[in-house]
Amino acid sequence: MKTREYTFFGGIHPRSYKELSNKYPIEEYLPKSQVIIPLQQHIGAPCTPLVKVNDYVKVGQKIGEANGFVSAPVHSSVSGKVVAIEDRPSSSGKLVKSIVIESDGEFNYDDNIKPNEDINNLKPEEIRYIVREAGIVGMGGATFPTMVKLNPPSDKKIDIVILNGAECEPYLTADHRLMLEKPVDIVHGLLAIMKALGASKGYVGIEDNKQDAIKEIRKACKEYAGVEVAVLKTKYPKGSEKHIIKAITGREVPSGKIPADVGVVVDNVGTAFAIAEAIKYGKPLIERVVTVTGEGIMTPKNLRVKIGTPFRELIECCGGFKGIPGKVISGGPMMGIAQYSIDVPVIKGTSGILVLPEDRIALKNPKPCIKCARCVDACPMNLLPLFISAYSLKNDFDKCEEYHALDCIECGSCSYVCPSKRPLVESIRLAKREILRKRRK
Ligand code: SF4
Ligand code: SF4
Repeated sequence: MKTREYTFFGGIHPRSYKELSNKYPIEEYLPKSQVIIPLQQHIGAPCTPLVKVNDYVKVGQKIGEANGFVSAPVHSSVSGKVVAIEDRPSSSGKLVKSIVIESDGEFNYDDNIKPNEDINNLKPEEIRYIVREAGIVGMGGATFPTMVKLNPPSDKKIDIVILNGAECEPYLTADHRLMLEKPVDIVHGLLAIMKALGASKGYVGIEDNKQDAIKEIRKACKEYAGVEVAVLKTKYPKGSEKHIIKAITGREVPSGKIPADVGVVVDNVGTAFAIAEAIKYGKPLIERVVTVTGEGIMTPKNLRVKIGTPFRELIECCGGFKGIPGKVISGGPMMGIAQYSIDVPVIKGTSGILVLPEDRIALKNPKPCIKCARCVDACPMNLLPLFISAYSLKNDFDKCEEYHALDCIECGSCSYVCPSKRPLVESIRLAKREILRKRRK
């Protein structure tokens, strides 16, 4: 099997910093006291609570019911007493209605958590049902309900499933460790997705800077027909859906279209692992691997943590801050979200907690654009970030739309290269929000 030579226009090669955590095996961390489970951890409608204050809940018990097709139920990650149902700050930067549970430290499982049949004995609709009931969403950060991807419109035939193991964001190593430590489960998850969709071909796309993971996943693929590793040249943002599809299949997802329009579904390797666990143990999505890292963290680690665990506890588990923290980010440095509090909880899409020390983020005031076009050269979507940003800063969102702001994948490459430190991705993100708000009216 050879490395796919395909590359794309734009993109960047930021320093990876993955060496801070990629050698450390996944450790389990159990929350000390309270977990905060937001009723909206996914793209789509928030859940309705199924419990009330003072109720006793068990691990894996469904505590929030999905509302609508694009939604996903939420489950308790501990056993204990519900102490509040109220708005709490979330890592998305918004207040989200959340169920707060005081753990009894026992981790008693709900009686409904039972293993399912082997994948070979499950029908496609049974796999879809398990995935839906387990509340599985895209775990690379997108948090799109996986059930929706497994139910494409009837006129769209899916023949290829890609597992995204690129993990191209600097610093993050959660997917890398999962591929090293749980390759067989990841491949089982891939086979389940393929069966649910009737797809004949499955790939695990991994960048060539993770040779050890390539080896392990290849070994796990060996006994199955139709599944293989696709080795990709390392380049940011290779892990974006459109770029990984083009790299592996040669198919191009047109502007305004989705992968299903070209017969492909892309899921994260963590999502596939969650599906395998939901089938094997009947376990809903109540935990995930989080990389806690950065030069501002004493001892970077990859932790398997319960959903709802506050960031503060995980930072303490890693020895606390090293020096004065300059910025705490949920996710990676390119697409992550800066946090104002470390009392927000881990949600299904939290791939990492990154702490950058003060001197790494010395805030530079943006300077005027010098029309150097570096942002244009770096944009993997062939956009003109300088113009979209300038129009956005003037609140001219119609012009932003004309310049295809909605095609921006918010990869941050333009901001990364801009010598004037212009707030490019932030202003383009705002423009996208305003264009979509206007369309909804
Ligand atoms: S305009 Fe969007 S897609 Fe292009 S480089 Fe900037 S953030 Fe990435
Ligand atoms: S990289 Fe920055 S300074 Fe250069 S053209 Fe783009 S916005 Fe202007």
